[in-house]
Amino acid sequence: MLTSSPAAKKESVVIRKRSKSAECTLPPLGMNAETLCQDSQHYLFRSLGVPVAEAATDKIARSVYTALGMALRDRLVERWNQSEERRTEMRGKRAFYLSLEFLLGRSLNNTLLNLGLEEAAETALASQGWELAELAEKEADAGLGNGGLGRLAACFLDSCASLALPVTGYGIRYAYGMFRQEIHHGEQVEEPDHWLKNGYPWEIKRPERVRRIPYGGHSEVYIDAAGKNRFRWVDTHDVLAVPYDIPIPGYANDVVNTLRLWRAAATDVFDLGEFNAGAYPEAVAAKNAAEHISMVLYPNDSSENGKELRLRQQYFLASASLQDVLADWVAKHGEKFSHFAEQHVFQLNDTHPSISVAELMRLLIDEHGLDWNAAWKITSSTMAYTNHTLLPEALERWPVRLFRQLLPRVLEIIYEINARFLREVARTHPGDSGLLSRVSLIEEGPDPMVRMANLAVVGSFSVNGVAALHTELLCRELFHDFYQLWPERFNNKTNGVTPRRWLQSANPELCKLISGKIGSDWQQDLAGLQTLSPFADDSRFRKSWAKVRAANKAALFDIISEQTGVAMIPGALLDTQVKRIHEYKRQLLNALHVVHLYDRIKRGDLEGFTPRNVLFAGKAAPGYFMAKRIIRFINEIARTINADPDTDGLLRVVFLPDYRVSLMEKICTATDLSEQISTAGKEASGTGNMKFMMNGALTIGTLDGANIEIREAVGAEHFFLFGLNAEEVAHLRAQYQPQHFIDADQDLERVLQLIRSGYFNPYDFGLFDCLLDAVLSPHDPWMVLADFTSYKQKQQEVAGLWRDQDEWLRFSIRNTAASGIFSSDRTIREYNADIWHLTPLVAEGASLG
Ligand SMILES: *Cc1c(COP(=O)(O)O)cnc(C)c1O
Repeated sequence: MLTSSPAAKKESVVIRKRSKSAECTLPPLGMNAETLCQDSQHYLFRSLGVPVAEAATDKIARSVYTALGMALRDRLVERWNQSEERRTEMRGKRAFYLSLEFLLGRSLNNTLLNLGLEEAAETALASQGWELAELAEKEADAGLGNGGLGRLAACFLDSCASLALPVTGYGIRYAYGMFRQEIHHGEQVEEPDHWLKNGYPWEIKRPERVRRIPYGGHSEVYIDAAGKNRFRWVDTHDVLAVPYDIPIPGYANDVVNTLRLWRAAATDVFDLGEFNAGAYPEAVAAKNAAEHISMVLYPNDSSENGKELRLRQQYFLASASLQDVLADWVAKHGEKFSHFAEQHVFQLNDTHPSISVAELMRLLIDEHGLDWNAAWKITSSTMAYTNHTLLPEALERWPVRLFRQLLPRVLEIIYEINARFLREVARTHPGDSGLLSRVSLIEEGPDPMVRMANLAVVGSFSVNGVAALHTELLCRELFHDFYQLWPERFNNKTNGVTPRRWLQSANPELCKLISGKIGSDWQQDLAGLQTLSPFADDSRFRKSWAKVRAANKAALFDIISEQTGVAMIPGALLDTQVKRIHEYKRQLLNALHVVHLYDRIKRGDLEGFTPRNVLFAGKAAPGYFMAKRIIRFINEIARTINADPDTDGLLRVVFLPDYRVSLMEKICTATDLSEQISTAGKEASGTGNMKFMMNGALTIGTLDGANIEIREAVGAEHFFLFGLNAEEVAHLRAQYQPQHFIDADQDLERVLQLIRSGYFNPYDFGLFDCLLDAVLSPHDPWMVLADFTSYKQKQQEVAGLWRDQDEWLRFSIRNTAASGIFSSDRTIREYNADIWHLTPLVAEGASLG
């Protein structure tokens, strides 16, 4: 099947065998429809064993997808090896992105786009009777993350590879990712996500790089050969970490980086004693316990879970990844670490992997013989920490007692870091015991706790927030004491999203239209979209713009109808709020507004009423009662409203189940109005807002997170701003009286009365009282009612603008044109310029100069 032309032979890889006989050469893989077709058929018939005579029916569609994936992986691996060779030659600094979550979504279309093989694959499949779009749907999402934080990690990997930066991702290969959400009788039901069930063609197992992770046991002192006091961690129950590598291709640059995910496995000699004692089933059960570590992703977004297994996972990731990096170093340089810090940087994605600070100390001191000061110098100049939230309930703390039992040696090191740190603070701030107790890594009390955020800040040379306001609030509030100690450590890196997945791959027709007007340079640098702005005034262009968006909307409405049975109003405004369900994100505010629109219809107040489709989607943490009740509420109002003939042609409401990356790819290209309505000061950045803007949606939002920067970029006149700002929220909190806001707005009063009357829950009296009680409480942390009136008025403005389609389309085009700075390429350039300082890989044949 593989032919070798003379030209191909010149560049081919030569594998020298030890025997004198044959020299076997590998010609480069073809990058066209014909070779792709041959290779995918090879895998389909010869590896997957599909009978050659099998007709092209849906029965084998998944196998056809897998075979194509295998053929593409070969091409990725080819470039992967070349990239790794070039990185080794360059001997430059490398960065490692440590994250408990990578919300990758699907890989097929992204791989085709980045390798430039989209057309080739379409042709290759067509010759076998298949459609690419149809096969792409066979791929399960790799849902190894909860939401924004995990998706950010995935966007960053894409940008690092596209900018040719030597960055490796490290994470956990959960057997079960984010649960699949079903809705039964209006309620969320969680189903396990067995995403590996049908195989995963995008990874390669690396058994030769397995690592050993200790748990339990105790720490003891001993005197080494040189007469030095040393510590060792003994009587441990070890678990193996087995790496699986996923190639991460850059866009059109032949660079392939690595995402290395660890799977937990029992050691070979696992409880041999029990085997020998005849307790075979017990030993096998214990083996299972070891493997539990990478079994399931914790489905909590923006809240800590506090479970022992979660701490095990965090340590598993930190230890395996750091051992992996150190092993490579030692293989090349022996036990000499003087230049290690110049060559490495570890970016910690939130506090989840912050135990890395202590673990790197342990490995350097206990395993590699460094003294404390040398180890601390290396650790504190290679660790960098990204904070993702100001919500107190999300700040991780672990009971000291749990730590002592699970990771006794690591706890000793944390105590030592703390003692040295507090001694230094006491010296520079004598007599300030309040400061000492606030910055301490240990929260004292009857059940002392380890504060993971403080560990991360103390151990890192860089601490960043993820949007301008968020970083400002970090410095002013959450980390104020640390900011006073080390202002130079703090910096902002406003989030971004990769335009490859979220614009090019998700919205190919819009991209064609854009490139038809301004050329395709914007695909290399998204800031180039700016030149699209003047075409907002070109009526023919607006018409084409509207046409593409209408087609996307019709496609999404088909999916909605198929999944939920709800027929959306064709052509009407699509108003979308999709994200994790959380009180601070205020889906409830949106739902109250929907009830208000319904109330208007029922009382015949239709002057200036604009027909509207309201779309909700998102998962609630399984243990988050209020979030789940909000889902129920949305489903009940949707059911009532959609069933009422008075609403026909005026209002449709739907909750689309199982929000995930592949669904968002369809939602963001079809949405007219993006809802970003969190209580000001609570959303760190948001990235859903950026995906919508890129695809031409207008935003209704508060001054929160990256909304502020979105509004600045597109211009205040093109952004629907409402509500209190962060300062006003903080100021109002002490004297918040929801009743004042009800008294001032009869519409709001009617909405609350309608809900209280049981109109939406005739068979389940009192079902939504808990929601009403929450928003009526003066202690409502999210101050839902404070912003209702302003939100309602702004929605009226939205409706007014929608009636002027020409003007709406101008706004839409200008939103896309201004979205360039929200490319994660811009974000990663900033990480590299300010924190990492990596040299991009020189493209083959190109020079650095
Ligand atoms: C982008 C994205 C998010 C983050 O959305 P926010 O609105 O910023 O919270 C969460 N989940 C998925 C699947 C996403 O694609």
